[in-house]
Amino acid sequence: MLGRPVVLASLFSVIWGGPALAADFQACLVGIKQAALRAGVSEQVVGQAFANVQPNENVLLASQTQPEFKTPIWDYLGFLVDERRIADGRAMLAKHDAVLRAAERTYGVDRHVITAVWGVESDYGRSAGKNYLPQALSTLACLGERRRDFWRGELIAALELVSRGDLEITELYGSWAGAFGQTQFIPSSYRRLAVDFDGDGRRDLVNSIPDALGSTANYLKRAGWRSGAPWLIEVKVPQGYKGPSGRKAKEPISAWSQRGIRRADGAALTGSGKAGLLLPAGPTGPAFLVFRNFDAIYSYNAAESYALAISHLADRIAGYPAFRTAWPTDDLGLSRDERLELQKLLLAKGYDVGEADGKIGPRSRAAIAKAEQDLGWSPTGRAGRKIYDALKGQ
Ligand code: CA
Repeated sequence: MLGRPVVLASLFSVIWGGPALAADFQACLVGIKQAALRAGVSEQVVGQAFANVQPNENVLLASQTQPEFKTPIWDYLGFLVDERRIADGRAMLAKHDAVLRAAERTYGVDRHVITAVWGVESDYGRSAGKNYLPQALSTLACLGERRRDFWRGELIAALELVSRGDLEITELYGSWAGAFGQTQFIPSSYRRLAVDFDGDGRRDLVNSIPDALGSTANYLKRAGWRSGAPWLIEVKVPQGYKGPSGRKAKEPISAWSQRGIRRADGAALTGSGKAGLLLPAGPTGPAFLVFRNFDAIYSYNAAESYALAISHLADRIAGYPAFRTAWPTDDLGLSRDERLELQKLLLAKGYDVGEADGKIGPRSRAAIAKAEQDLGWSPTGRAGRKIYDALKGQ
């Protein structure tokens, strides 16, 4: 799978920019412009949005590239809930205390969770994506392999936001898949759920931190958040546990108690409400009871690992400890700072990672695999603690 993006790239160099493709794209754009006008988007916005827009090859590649291996949960949490993001979250919690408390009061959503979403989605506003949405979304809507209608709908929703005065066309920059702003809403969610929390008359999730945080709280409330209820509790399951598990298999706390499950600190389970038992790495790894509020977080990105990262980051920002049970691995994940350091170590030892940017892409993975081979290990290409420690110790 390491070679897949390269293969695609060479394929594209053959067909990309060919006259037939360009004509198809332009014809498709005409259809999108007409649909946007019918949806009430102003002519001025439609004209501005697509001036000089050409399809973006990188967007298509991103939409077609499959992850080459399933990211272990400890890798995923290693960089999403690292010490820097926790410390930054605490600083943001203090700095934006008034806004976060107002959002908590208005929508009933815990302010640590709102902060955690902000931290994971855009590193607290630092990286909200660099793709021009009319270009990225028209590429997917016109040339994408799947879900063209979905992308077209998102594109028109983005233009509607500009047409109604929430944003300028020059502010529509985000991920290749159209999520944008400080808390990475896709345009249709933005249109439906964004709120003007600073009261200036515009819903500006790009520049207004109050609007972004208020909108996230509103999103979670609309996703079923229950004020004052828990989202996640770390627990211990009895050795050899073979009982039910899964986020959706919710049962009363008493039922879990009867199966011998206790809090991770050894205390008996208390409280009401129904919870599912999440075992992200099987029964020997960390175990969690997850509640309806966990499902609300899940709905933000439709992944249990994502909801676990947000839940845990929120707890860490609030001052609660790291998980008590270790992940069942001898090769844990790395923080963002360690990933960057690993790349620098690789570079210093002559392995080509390109630019050291802390992001582990195909080039970094190939370099790691080479370094592993040179150590006499079987190559995995994974940025884990073993290779990090080995290179650091050399
Ligand atoms: Ca506003």
